[in-house]
Amino acid sequence: MKIQYIKGVGPKRGNKLKKLNIYTIKDLLYYIPREYDDRSKISNINQVQEGEKISLYVEVYGYPSKIKPRRNLSILKIPVRDKTGHGYLIWYNQDYMANQIKIGDKILVNGKINKFGGEIQIVNPIIDREKGNKVGNIVPIYSLTAGLTNNEMLNIMNNAIKGYGDKMPEVLPYYIRKELDLMSIEEAILNIHFPKTKSDYMEARKRLAFEELLTLQLGLFIIKSRTKEMKEGIKFPHIEELESFVSKLPFNLTSAQKRVFKEIEEDMEKNVPMNRLIQGDVGSGKTILAVLSMFKAVKSGYQSVMMAPTEILATQHYESISKFFKGYNINCQLLVGSLSLKEKERILKELKSGDIDILIGTHAVIQENVEFKNLGLAITDEQHRFGVKQRAVLSQKGKNPDTLVMTATPIPRTLALILYGDLDISIIDELPPGRKKIETYAVNPNMVNRVNNFVKKQVLDGRQAYIVAPLVEESEKLNINSAESLYMSFKNGVYKDFNVGLLHGKMKAREKEKIMEEFKKGKIDILISTTVIEVGVNVPNANIMVIFNAERFGLAQLHQLRGRVGRGEYQSYCILINESNSRISRERMRILQNSTDGFYISERDLELRGPGEFFGTKQHGIPDLKVANLFTDMEILKLAQKKAKEILKEDALLLDEKHFFLRQNIISMFKDQIDELIFN
Ligand code: ADP
Ligand code: MG
Repeated sequence: MKIQYIKGVGPKRGNKLKKLNIYTIKDLLYYIPREYDDRSKISNINQVQEGEKISLYVEVYGYPSKIKPRRNLSILKIPVRDKTGHGYLIWYNQDYMANQIKIGDKILVNGKINKFGGEIQIVNPIIDREKGNKVGNIVPIYSLTAGLTNNEMLNIMNNAIKGYGDKMPEVLPYYIRKELDLMSIEEAILNIHFPKTKSDYMEARKRLAFEELLTLQLGLFIIKSRTKEMKEGIKFPHIEELESFVSKLPFNLTSAQKRVFKEIEEDMEKNVPMNRLIQGDVGSGKTILAVLSMFKAVKSGYQSVMMAPTEILATQHYESISKFFKGYNINCQLLVGSLSLKEKERILKELKSGDIDILIGTHAVIQENVEFKNLGLAITDEQHRFGVKQRAVLSQKGKNPDTLVMTATPIPRTLALILYGDLDISIIDELPPGRKKIETYAVNPNMVNRVNNFVKKQVLDGRQAYIVAPLVEESEKLNINSAESLYMSFKNGVYKDFNVGLLHGKMKAREKEKIMEEFKKGKIDILISTTVIEVGVNVPNANIMVIFNAERFGLAQLHQLRGRVGRGEYQSYCILINESNSRISRERMRILQNSTDGFYISERDLELRGPGEFFGTKQHGIPDLKVANLFTDMEILKLAQKKAKEILKEDALLLDEKHFFLRQNIISMFKDQIDELIFN
């Protein structure tokens, strides 16, 4: 129902509400307060503390006095008392308040206490005649837009709840509410906006968050099961030759790699399409799993494609992967934006004819003009850089090909079920043997000289170093190091006797590749860069990673960057230059110094940085949530996942009458996200 039905909402306010994405009465009732101001507790005057924000119930017992200490300043003072003491209400430049209060009035006031020469003052208090919306209650504070005040919003909300609070469909079936002891929707809506106590609010929030997470999880589970049952996939045969291929690798697979490959093999041999996510820390050896899977696909007569987020990474994959396939008569090609038109045309032609067995590339591989003869396996590396849509486009290059996505951003399983709700998950929880622990130090900027000397010494020993800065160009506003300015000053200063290179995202792909190539070949000693080197880059001789303004990066990202070193036989170092003095920053640095466990680090990152910053959920293609928070509501999420499984076990398509509104809710939550209607 339209928002204009509510008393107090005309076209003008209606437009303001639209700015807040409130179009319907339901939107409004589900518009959750940003925070609450607890003005419910009435204090006694003799107990108030300086600076405290409190509510008092007082009687006006004297006449107002006004003073004008300066031309533009007028101070109004009204004496008030309660049973325990007396004080003054003070207003600056609001003399009209004197007309609103008479001697003998009993009023509720809320404001901040100021003790001034033994006098207790409340400055610019909010007043209320009786226990109402403004004082004496927990008052909701809403996110607003220009031209809409919190008081107006309070009135609108009040009217909406009076008129429609009991008319919202009850999405949660009674048996679930009863079992989990959850409020009804009517109570929840009332209490999320106008709670009487904190625990009322908590209960209301829990119920609404549960409803939302249950809807989300049910939707995702249903999509997952439907994509599985609808599509007939490729049933790859068992390939005997794989065994000898594995035995000729330059290393033995770790047992985690073996286990995960077995899971992949089983998936591939089923006639439903594989949809598998491989999570493994940096350096855990995900690439070889892609190699084995592609080998299997190619030997079964199908083409494979692997998409990586940057040209550097795609090129590197191409180089190392082609090496594994040497002598096996497998045609492996690279497709990236910087190829010449002629080269591209050749590749597209050979791809279509089936001459190419394996294509490795960037986003270039999902361009419209890329056609395969018979794509059987689609792999996405560093999944967190791509969205659900891009993954889908890649799959659509074939006829229900098997898909594999790989990520080095470890996230808790509960969250993975949401963010990758449509995927099965494998975890590589073991690093190849013989890895030396990377020594990690967090230092202040005043240690930079010592850091430079250390880098020099290592480079003189034949090693190479990365130096990372958050920005490309100098910023005038922020005091942050940029790759460019560090490059200029280092190249002509401390590192003038070395070969220093610069790499950043604004450079042309060709240039980037050239620089990276030179670094790999050892022609560049010290590479100064933005985070474009973040993912996957492999230069075993590089053993130092220096990160400027480390406080500006996420922990998971720092962990990724650190993973660029420690890839060879040399003891490696990661030096975090922390330019912030905040406690949280120091704590974050300490976490990195003490742990190399990507799962642990990302969990702590979530805890300390909070939601949103960790990574936007938008790019993962999941619906926006109004109440629940995927990161902080982990417990409710777990509960919702458990319930979702139980419900679907009993009623897989939610056709039972008691699930009617739940089903409707899922459809409306997913309507913008999922192209195909999930219940069709
Ligand atoms: P990531 O999981 O970060 O993508 P890679 O696949 O790039 O890791 O592997 C990192 C390095 O470890 C590569 O040089 C790779 O050849 C090597 N590697 C992978 N598996 C093993 C193994 N089982 N034993 C020894 N080295 C391995
Ligand atoms: Mg990798």
